[in-house]
Order: sequence, then structure tokens, then C-alpha cells
Amino acid sequence: MALSTRRYQQAEAGGSVRITDEVYLVGGGVANAFGLSDDPDCHIYLVDGGDELALIDCGMASGNSLERILANVLAEGLNPEKIAQVIVTHYHVDHAGGAAEFRERLGVDVVAPADAADALRTGDERAVALDVAKAAGFYAADYHFEPVEVSQEVREGDRIHVGRLELEVFETPGHCDGHVSLLMRGRERSYLFAGDAVFSGGRVVLQNIHDCSIQKTAESIAKLAELEFDALLPGHAAICLDGGTRHVALANQACRSLFVPKNLVG
Ligand SMILES: [Zn+2]
Repeated sequence: MALSTRRYQQAEAGGSVRITDEVYLVGGGVANAFGLSDDPDCHIYLVDGGDELALIDCGMASGNSLERILANVLAEGLNPEKIAQVIVTHYHVDHAGGAAEFRERLGVDVVAPADAADALRTGDERAVALDVAKAAGFYAADYHFEPVEVSQEVREGDRIHVGRLELEVFETPGHCDGHVSLLMRGRERSYLFAGDAVFSGGRVVLQNIHDCSIQKTAESIAKLAELEFDALLPGHAAICLDGGTRHVALANQACRSLFVPKNLVG
């Protein structure tokens, strides 16, 4: 779909966090510490594979968020028309709620965990725990989760191509079902996009929702603790450019001691 960039330029002046010359943070709410798009968006990463760009998670596209994110991409001298995919780590709305809007506006393919695809396609608010999240006051009562067509379902070991870059899929349920983490070996660094599986300081987000599991969290963290990578890029809070494995090791250590890693929130 051809896009006019004028509309993004009309959005407020863009800004982003250039993590390296192949990974950028282009969105995320103030509650997430960066204030690059509207609350309650998670961290929204952009990977630059040369011919193609992809977003990892897209937030809710509420308010002015989508325009702000595209303005941030432009501000880095990158062309939003080259965004070919939105890759979602899991179906929680602060990560994937805006996927339908991004797909419609940008003509992108939505890539999602196979175990999350049905809920995304149907917009099932109970399946994604939006009903209880609304009741708890996290989201407006009138917020509607827009169903979205999933172009590609991914499972353990699959590889997602973004231009010259390749992201390897690791299934990491626990925070919720249908959650994946993505390992990318870049030019000078390797990156783990961890979604909400594990955070800096070895923290996790365990919530009182139907598909959150301490045991699955521990299994997923043990799996991630086997990986070699430099940067830990989670869906919220601090990001870590080097020594990212240390944070996962902390969480793994807690689980192996039969304790629950500290919660990021609450
Ligand atoms: Zn989540």
C-alpha cells in the first residue's frame, strides 16, 4: 500500500531511541519510561533489515500512537513504507491491540505465535484476559480489541526473515499462553526480544489471569537461560545492551531455588 508521509510529519515531532544501527525503540508509553507513544503501549522495537523493516509488538494504536510511532521512524531517516511486518510476542493488548490498525493503515503482514493466532483473529477479549484487565482498571471499559488477520503463525525453531536479518522463535509461555521470544544475531550484537517473559534484574510479570503459570514461566526462563546473546530487549522497563544473559540467569536462579522471581509490577 502506498503511503503519504505527510500525515506522519503532521504528527508531533518524532523521536526515538537508536539502540544500534539495526534496532530502534520507536514506541512505548510514559509508564514504560520512554514516552515515545501513548500509554499504555509496551516497548515497540523496529528492526532494520535493509530492504525491509519490521516492528516487534505494536502497542494499542490508541490516541495518536500510530502516527507518533511512524513519525519516530521517519525521524531516524527510515521509510515507514518499508515496514513489512508487525511481529507480536503475545496477545495482550498493550503489545498487540493495535495490530489490526497497523495492518489496515500500512498493509503489513501480522506475524504471531501459533497459539495466539485464534484469539487475535477472533478478538476474543476473555482469551486475552482483557475482560479482567478492564475490570481491574488497566484499560477503558469501552476499549474494543479489534480482531486481526494473522498472515504467519510461528512456532519453536521457526525463523522470521526481515530483509537480511533473521529472528529465531522460542516459545516462552508462562506470562500467558502463546508467548514467544525472538533471538536475532545482528552485525555486531545479538539481541533477545523477550516480550513479557523476563525483564532486567531477573524480574517477571506474573498476574492473576487464567493463562499465567509459574511453572511454565520457570520452564521458559530455563530455556532462555541456555541462550547466548548480548542485548536483552524486553517489553517494558529497562533495556540492556550488553550482558543481557546475566538478567535471565538471575531469574533462572530464583526459579531453581523454587522461589518465584520478583514481579516487575505490583
Ligand atoms: Zn503481557
